[in-house]
Amino acid sequence: MKILICDNLNQQVYKELETIGDCFDISKSASKDEDLANHIKDSEIVVIRSATKLTKEVLDEAEQLKIIARCGVGIDNVDLDFAKSKNIFVTNAPSANLISVVELTVALIISASRKLSLADSHLKKGEWNRSEFLGYELYGKTLGIVGFGKAGRLVADRMKSFGMSIVFYDPYVTDWNGSEESVELDDLLRTADVVSIHVIKTKDTENLISKDMLDLLKPSSIIVNTSRGGVLDEDYLFELLESEKIFGAGLDVYSNEPPENVDRYNGLNLVTTPHIGASTNEAQLKAGLETIENIKKILAGDESVAL
Ligand code: NAD
Repeated sequence: MKILICDNLNQQVYKELETIGDCFDISKSASKDEDLANHIKDSEIVVIRSATKLTKEVLDEAEQLKIIARCGVGIDNVDLDFAKSKNIFVTNAPSANLISVVELTVALIISASRKLSLADSHLKKGEWNRSEFLGYELYGKTLGIVGFGKAGRLVADRMKSFGMSIVFYDPYVTDWNGSEESVELDDLLRTADVVSIHVIKTKDTENLISKDMLDLLKPSSIIVNTSRGGVLDEDYLFELLESEKIFGAGLDVYSNEPPENVDRYNGLNLVTTPHIGASTNEAQLKAGLETIENIKKILAGDESVAL
């Protein structure tokens, strides 16, 4: 059985995959798109993380493909409907990355509230002008969570320990009786001191935090997105930061990855990371091992783990 590995995997995960079939690794290839198009033809299992896009065109080349295994949560990089129409099982590891992305979110919130990115580059340039770095405490402030699912709730739990009160917007959470308050999106954006986005990417969430929505933010607010690029209008976010109409922002995900015109980020209270929410040893190991269990189940006839 040919297993095509498209993205970088934990070594233990790689070794486990080798017990299932012959692994062919194109994760470090300089001509990955070309290799993918060639090797997908006779592969039976394709293993990906978020960096590989399995579009209709790519999947159309597959002649033997049985399983697409996504070592992580989001599957917006796979044309799921087309895969299903070709009777290809798609499986993922929806919870394995959670703690890592949640911890990164907390880091971005704290960094933006204390201008850590600016302060860090300031000191490394040999400067010591402390008055430029007046931040604010999170204690006593309101955190607004957009998308109150697994990640959103875990971020809320952690930020409560900082003394923040929590409001959330999620039209699919209708019976919540916890201490967090459900509010409408425009109210959340108008009132929250920190806004953190945790929606999944769908047609409905595309540009959910649009220019008009961003205009509702308070001048003292911070907005953080570790969910998926394209759910907020990044270009307009930069305009708001440039004109100091909001206090700060943190981004791990972008509409185009890698993003263009990054020179524009310099000098802004904007903490950026290159989509590393799931990039911890623990997350990659958990996601890989969970995905391998799913592969084994599908091969044994248990389709319950397929999407
Ligand atoms: P989840 O499915 O548990 O939660 C998503 C929530 O969004 C759900 O509660 C859902 O009801 C809500 N939602 C759906 N449509 C909405 C809308 N229109 N408005 C408001 N809420 C809406 O997902 P999760 O596991 O919590 O993951 C959240 C996001 O984090 C996903 O986009 C995932 O891809 C992303 N993620 C990113 C990284 C990273 O590396 N940065 C790592 C892991 C997960």
